[in-house]
Amino acid sequence: MFNPKSVTVLDHPLIQHKLTLMRDKESSSTTFRRLLKELSSLMVYEVTRDLITTKVLIDTPLETMSSKVIDGKKLVFVSILRAGNGILDGMLDVIPGARVGFIGLYRDEKTLQSIEYYFKMPNEIESRDVIIVDPMLATGNSAIAAIDRIKKLNPKSIKFLCLLTCPEGIEAVHAQHPDVSIFTASIDRQLNENGYILPGLGDAGDRIFGTK
Ligand code: URA
Repeated sequence: MFNPKSVTVLDHPLIQHKLTLMRDKESSSTTFRRLLKELSSLMVYEVTRDLITTKVLIDTPLETMSSKVIDGKKLVFVSILRAGNGILDGMLDVIPGARVGFIGLYRDEKTLQSIEYYFKMPNEIESRDVIIVDPMLATGNSAIAAIDRIKKLNPKSIKFLCLLTCPEGIEAVHAQHPDVSIFTASIDRQLNENGYILPGLGDAGDRIFGTK
């Protein structure tokens, strides 16, 4: 049973504090990258809150007990290149066994449409839960293109994790994919005419990789 058009704002004080520091234009790339990694580790707790567990018998040094482990095949984190990679490290710190896929999309600056240039996924996606990551869910074009593509592989479920989004991005994704739950640290005010989120934090890729 999925929750249609679900959006969860991760409003934990630690997440909000780090996000504020990241928004500050005076934060260097080194600081920005470190904060994004820390934030991603915190956000992955919330995104995986509903993972199904099963009980196994184990022996403690004192007795045998039945204890919970995560059920099913390993999760897949899918990074939308290149900014998604800034989120991956923090997530893998918490869930090192996750599989990782990559989808390369660039934004045509005139049409703002997404063009795919790379696609590599782990095997057996049909029996795995997928979490797609991209720091900014702005126009929604890349997210929709990534979800369209991954849905063709029939995964068990798809969630979308971003740092920031805006009403336009959420609406666009949920118009095409109401079954994909969105997790974010903030829903900002709006998109500008260039497809940037306001007030936002600027170009996430440039700030992560220092390419401005
Ligand atoms: N991508 C970014 O990096 N920043 C935005 O504000 C929107 C899309």
